[in-house]
Amino acid sequence: AKDNGGGQYHIYHQDMYQRVAHRVMMETEVRQALAKGQFSLSLQPQVMAKSKKIYGFEALLRWRHPEKGMISPDDFIPILENSEHMVELGYWVIRRCFEIVKQLQRYGLKDVRIAMNLSAGQFVDGNLPQYLHALLREFSLPARLFELELTEQTLVKDIDRAIEMMNNLRTIGFSFAIDDFGTGYSSLAYIKKMPVDVIKIDKSFIFGMLENHADYQIITSTIAMVKNLGLTVVAEGVESSAQLRSLSESNCDIIQGYYFSKPVPEKELLAFLDNHVVD
Ligand code: C2E
Ligand code: CA
Ligand code: CA
Ligand code: CA
Repeated sequence: AKDNGGGQYHIYHQDMYQRVAHRVMMETEVRQALAKGQFSLSLQPQVMAKSKKIYGFEALLRWRHPEKGMISPDDFIPILENSEHMVELGYWVIRRCFEIVKQLQRYGLKDVRIAMNLSAGQFVDGNLPQYLHALLREFSLPARLFELELTEQTLVKDIDRAIEMMNNLRTIGFSFAIDDFGTGYSSLAYIKKMPVDVIKIDKSFIFGMLENHADYQIITSTIAMVKNLGLTVVAEGVESSAQLRSLSESNCDIIQGYYFSKPVPEKELLAFLDNHVVD
């Protein structure tokens, strides 16, 4: 926080001051952490509900801090939201995903797809399409192996621009998923307006789906609606075989959750794949 003269500084609530200070500290730390290689990805399998074969993985960011240990993305991504550091970190994530897919290809796994999370700042940053184009060329990989996950919060900034960017990227083969579906204010408006391929039902609905009648009805109706629209539906946060069975009976396409696997550290990915059928 800076003093704008005339003691304006005092009007800031203590809380607000602390948040700003925390944010500035985080930004500095993230920059250093990037340089020191403290970030990595974990990959959580997405499994086809009927065949139980692996469809792909979601890339989830991990930060191993030398003193604080593992820091959850939920504890630093929201703080960095909209900062240029998040954009930089986001680019690091995308590049790392390309490297991982390339490695899998060399290993003979030609059809393993990766879904990655985009933040709001990254999505409105005008360089994203060029960056993705450049990576496709550099790694000579097809865009169909990459899915971009967006939340309602990511999208609210500038809908028209978002739609234009999504259409451009879809033309060259990238696919888009709406993440945390059902938790925002206007999920239905988004499903109608946005050129998306995949809907991910938020895990908060899945957790109690077998005990809570409303959650169960919301899930089964959402699956039916999404399928009727010709889109693919993913359920995340699936932790039990009973949930899996129920979702599979309701025609959910893809299941993600601890029941199959927690996110796998990138270093363990090949060993993990060795033990699982892929295609
Ligand atoms: P998300 O995109 O909704 O990711 C799913 C989260 O649910 C992950 O938490 C995952 O580990 C967790 N999860 C998966 N299956 C289960 C389950 O069966 N039970 C439970 N209890 N949890 C499960 P994680 O890895 O801590 O990530 C938290 C959030 O941080 C993500 O939520 C996403 O919003 C954000 N995030 C993670 N990586 C990135 C990234 O590279 N870029 C951006 N912008 N955001 C990221
Ligand atoms: Ca996600
Ligand atoms: Ca989610
Ligand atoms: Ca989430």
